[in-house]
Amino acid sequence: MISAMTDRCDCGAPAGPLGRCADYYHAILAEEQGDPDMYRWHNPVVCAYLLQHPAEGHEKHLDVQFRWLQLLLDQGIDAVIRVAAHQVARNRHASRQGYDMTPFERYAPLPPGRAATDFGASFSALPVVGGSFVFDGPEAYGRRIEAVAAATVERLSGRT
Ligand SMILES: [Zn+2]
Repeated sequence: MISAMTDRCDCGAPAGPLGRCADYYHAILAEEQGDPDMYRWHNPVVCAYLLQHPAEGHEKHLDVQFRWLQLLLDQGIDAVIRVAAHQVARNRHASRQGYDMTPFERYAPLPPGRAATDFGASFSALPVVGGSFVFDGPEAYGRRIEAVAAATVERLSGRT
């Protein structure tokens, strides 16, 4: 028996043609592997997905994921890629300097609270045409991911 509950994700979003948000997320991760322009948005995709579905990630990472999305909205995807490369380079050093929080200090910490629902933009609402998320080009795809990121920050910022 199919109940209304099975059509709804933890984040409150109704399922789309591909299924729930998790189905969209895994389809994105698979498609971006073969598309460097799409992969530029990997970090915001992961951060937004885990912030909208915190049970699937690690609580200790949520704060920095929330700040990554603010960095995206404030400085754009090129800045995200630059900071990500910086973090990877740091980790490769034998000195093991760890995560550099300097780029994130100016951004708001994640307000404490329960998992939020009813975000203004959801993964299961992303359009897929001919099996592709980048059917109309990587720029248009990027704008959609940015809208999901903005909705995630907006919803979690207002959490009480
Ligand atoms: Zn969801």
